[in-house]
Amino acid sequence: MSGPDGALVLGIETSCHETGIGVVRGHTLLAHAVAPGVAERARSGEAGPEDVARAHLEAMTPTVNRALSRAGVGLPDLDAIAVTAGPGLAGSLMVGVAAAKAYALALGRPLYGVNHLAAHVAAGRLEHGALPQPCAALLMSDEHSSLLLVPDVATEVRPLDAAMDEAVGEVFAKVAGTPGLGFPEGAGIDRVARDGLPDAIVFPPGTGDGEAYDFSLAGLRTAVVRRAEARERAGGPVPAADVAAAFQDAVVDVLTRKAIAVCREHGVRDLLIGGGAAAGARLREPARQRCDVAGIRLRLPEPGLCDDNGAMVATLGAELMIAGLQPSALDLPADAYLPVTSITV
Ligand code: ZN
Repeated sequence: MSGPDGALVLGIETSCHETGIGVVRGHTLLAHAVAPGVAERARSGEAGPEDVARAHLEAMTPTVNRALSRAGVGLPDLDAIAVTAGPGLAGSLMVGVAAAKAYALALGRPLYGVNHLAAHVAAGRLEHGALPQPCAALLMSDEHSSLLLVPDVATEVRPLDAAMDEAVGEVFAKVAGTPGLGFPEGAGIDRVARDGLPDAIVFPPGTGDGEAYDFSLAGLRTAVVRRAEARERAGGPVPAADVAAAFQDAVVDVLTRKAIAVCREHGVRDLLIGGGAAAGARLREPARQRCDVAGIRLRLPEPGLCDDNGAMVATLGAELMIAGLQPSALDLPADAYLPVTSITV
């Protein structure tokens, strides 16, 4: 086996809708592959949790093989297996954890069960080198939204007292589903927003703010719907693209403002933004500009590494190995509610 710095690690991610497999050598990404899965059907309510788990099962072997072949390595070359042990959908997590155990057992390699949220943070290591210690992390996606302080991604991740009443993706989906706003069926808000004019709807300052670091995305959602309705009554419908653009900009505004306030309060100079919603084009440039103005260095992984993926899991597994932490037991559980403070299980 190679030393930990050059360990070849396979990462398996199945906590939600995408089957993601990644291969890293130490801190270097060799390849990753994502099966499309049933994400669209699951979001539109056509596929339930069992369908999603079955899709992971069917996609597992072909996606592992695809990632290995892209990386130019074979199963026997692997030094360790890492897998998302939680949080996430229970049935989906179980498929990934069972597969990871099978690979670890068959190959006689150590297994690292890791936290999905900490893995999103670890993804920031791949393109831009070692994570500053500490850094702050803002994670946002359909399923989870959190603000974290990360002294060391391998050993200590602390949730900050930030709460969102709804996850970012959930709020986007609800706005897109509002009858009368004219959103094209099934289109993601990011795509619709591309041609929109964000100034079409103006929000009063503080919309979306909760107490202290808390966000009130439900409040923002209500505000956007009410304003669109009022405009419609006054002079005809507001184009869906404008509603989408205004809403996205308002979300980016409230999230980045809070994240920067957190950095200032904790004397942290570096902010990492990750999670599926961070892959959206409208978020990336404004977040960059706002961090520049505030003198905060921003780490924004490329879109494919912001979405759920196996590379981030493999990277966190490699970080744990390099830090000399013990692997997980082979009977490690999948934990749908794994707290972010448990980086490994
Ligand atoms: Zn995620």
